[in-house]
Amino acid sequence: MTNFLSGKLIYNFFYLAYILNEKFINDQSKRNYMADKFLEYNNKRVRKKFERIKPKNIAILLPHCIQNYDCPFKITSDVENCKKCGKCKIGKILELKEKYSLEVKVATGGTLARLFIKEKKPDIIIAVACKRDLISGIYDTFPMNVYGVYNKIIHSPCINTDLSIEEIEKVLLFLGKKN
Ligand code: SF4
Repeated sequence: MTNFLSGKLIYNFFYLAYILNEKFINDQSKRNYMADKFLEYNNKRVRKKFERIKPKNIAILLPHCIQNYDCPFKITSDVENCKKCGKCKIGKILELKEKYSLEVKVATGGTLARLFIKEKKPDIIIAVACKRDLISGIYDTFPMNVYGVYNKIIHSPCINTDLSIEEIEKVLLFLGKKN
């Protein structure tokens, strides 16, 4: 209980600092500072928990904007509907899914994401999202183990965004390697 309260207090501090940073800092180069610090702290905490324990159930949670905008296949109901055509990274995610036996969900919003988590109860979630969704998601779900990865905005937010498969695989390799 003490650990939970002190952890929650730290998360409250980071979240408040992030909100203030967003509100009052106009300089784009400094705007991400608190979000980056929060993410760094959170990911270190999650990594530490799995230093010696191998998670049984790993999930990847993705935003819908990762899917190619013109793709006709409905991957939000089942990611396996993807035909791996290469126009977006969902095909590569399916390869990781198979290789590491992962649960993968492409969610259109927070409610669906929460439903998925409640149903699958993963030991750890690798969540990919934009800064705002990722930071608020990590804050809301504490003390859940959510390892956060930013998606990449290529042209405009919310359409045809990208992600680093290498970054995700690095986390998976860390989680799989235990003494
Ligand atoms: S890789 Fe899959 S989800 Fe992406 S555009 Fe092709 S079929 Fe659609």
